Amino acid sequence: MLKNILSPSPFGGRLFIQTLFLAWSLFIGLQFSLFVRHFETSGAMPYYSRPAGVEGFLPIGALVSLKGWLLGGGLDAVHPAALVLFVTFLAMALLARKSFCSFLCPVGTLSEWSWKLGERLFGRNFRVWRPLDLLLQSLKYLLLFFFVKIILIDMPLPAIKQFLAGDYWAMADVKMLQFFTNLSFLSGGIVILLTLLSLCYKNVWCRYLCPYGALLGLFSVLSPVRIRRDSTCCTACGNCSRACPSRIDVQNKLTVVSPECTGCMTCIQNCPESNTLQMSIGQKVLPGWSFVLLVTGLFASGVLIGMLSGHWETSLTYSDYQRLIPWLRHIGH
Ligand code: SF4
Ligand code: SF4
Repeated sequence: MLKNILSPSPFGGRLFIQTLFLAWSLFIGLQFSLFVRHFETSGAMPYYSRPAGVEGFLPIGALVSLKGWLLGGGLDAVHPAALVLFVTFLAMALLARKSFCSFLCPVGTLSEWSWKLGERLFGRNFRVWRPLDLLLQSLKYLLLFFFVKIILIDMPLPAIKQFLAGDYWAMADVKMLQFFTNLSFLSGGIVILLTLLSLCYKNVWCRYLCPYGALLGLFSVLSPVRIRRDSTCCTACGNCSRACPSRIDVQNKLTVVSPECTGCMTCIQNCPESNTLQMSIGQKVLPGWSFVLLVTGLFASGVLIGMLSGHWETSLTYSDYQRLIPWLRHIGH
């Protein structure tokens, strides 16, 4: 594993970024829980500053915020980083496929590492029967449709403004933290079940249940960056199709436009013929390292624009948290 992370190839580069981002997510999760602990203990525990990046875990609220902004309600000041990160990830999907899933998402990284561990333990991964696989894949689109319906279609601007000004949205990040730190019996059971399934099957959560990935996948269909296969030097060995974690039949495609393609480059890595499978932009080859730089550059640009334009740190004050956190269990009931 360490050898792969440090490998001086675009594939090693992707693994390195995944590892870095997972570590960063864990770090901000820890820092945020210490921040919350300070208020839960009425200041008995030391104060730690709140990492704004934690708002990356609020995509549903960010969708509300995006609609409010597009309808002229202004930029939300309570969780501005949620909107900045949401728009950044959508832009990444538009320009660089679902690279958020294969480079940045900590859940995607843990999923990938789970099936790789399962492969070592059992000598292989299992495949869901194709018709059932297609049926299960529709679940994430149903979940996406549910959120699109209740937020983008049904929610009028006054309701959006009321939501964004309310205590529930102010505490959405703290509630999210509590969901993970105080898992109920049912939620814990679901997490264990998904973990066990992820050891046997590739990317169970991402492939079947994640509405965020479904949304990014639909945006990524428009991306000019695609995997392209040169049929003149392809030997039809099938390595690419067998290796693709998204079960895309790369061997029989000239370009991959599927919303399931995450731009992970595993197919390229497993192709024995040089320059046969390549990332491309339009008709031009996009070298692997350029793709890695494009992904990191898009992410860094989005965050920098948010920070420099003053849309990163929350408008909530110390006394807001002092007032709201002790009342958390009464908020939203
Ligand atoms: S087609 Fe290639 S880049 Fe796309 S998901 Fe499959 S292996 Fe990854
Ligand atoms: S791995 Fe390469 S050579 Fe083999 S089928 Fe895929 S594109 Fe062709």
